[in-house]
Amino acid sequence: MNIILMGMPGAGKGTQAAKIIEQLNIPHISTGDMFRAAVKEQTPLGVEAKSFMDQGQLVPDRVTIGIVRERLAKDDCANGFLLDGFPRTVPQAEALDQLLIDLNRELDHVIYIDVAMDELLRRLTGRWICRDCGATYHAVFAPPEKEGVCDHCGGELYQREDDRAETVANRLKVNFEQTNHLLAYYESNGKLERVYGALPIDEVSKHILSVVRGTVS
Ligand code: ADP
Ligand code: AMP
Repeated sequence: MNIILMGMPGAGKGTQAAKIIEQLNIPHISTGDMFRAAVKEQTPLGVEAKSFMDQGQLVPDRVTIGIVRERLAKDDCANGFLLDGFPRTVPQAEALDQLLIDLNRELDHVIYIDVAMDELLRRLTGRWICRDCGATYHAVFAPPEKEGVCDHCGGELYQREDDRAETVANRLKVNFEQTNHLLAYYESNGKLERVYGALPIDEVSKHILSVVRGTVS
């Protein structure tokens, strides 16, 4: 099963991806996670990506498409993949289409998690992430059992640099424009499936899984 999970920053892509891959046994490929890992390891890719990420800008398409091309060629994608945060621009979507032709694969689902702007702001500024396993929490909507500690692995929770109020506003602005173009792209080829994302986490998961399993039209 080859799936794209789309949505603005804070829509719940990472949260939902973690639940979907448990059910479908496919890898979760998040370009944001890949860039953050490269920044942490201070690789050349990380050094290049950091300057864009710190300002809430998109990393250039050339770089982003390159890392996705390498990642999709790995053996663990043989049964499918769940892309989270890619594509984010129409050139990335076109490059992905070509890449899938080369791999003799097709997209099964393009799911857009739809959440209003004021809710996105509330979610991003309250987001906490585990430094060790990457699990996502929210100070109010999805708090850990013990403050600052991951329920799954006991790791330390931290707030992302780019979730600061100043950066968040720019990220939302940049992503809003690109997302509208991308929605039009997938709408025009009949692939887009929208899921209302402002419900509790488990309700959104149920809806996404029913789309993936083909039990809703
Ligand atoms: P994305 O990967 O799309 O940027 P995340 O999955 O990291 O978004 O979610 C952003 C924040 O919103 C996190 O703090 C998460 O716990 C919280 N969140 C995710 N889904 C919901 C939901 N349905 N209701 C309330 N909070 C949510
Ligand atoms: P995310 O974790 O998806 O919110 O991504 C964090 C940051 O990584 C973004 O603000 C961008 O700077 C960069 N990034 C992630 N995915 C992409 C992408 N598909 N295209 C360009 N930049 C990206």
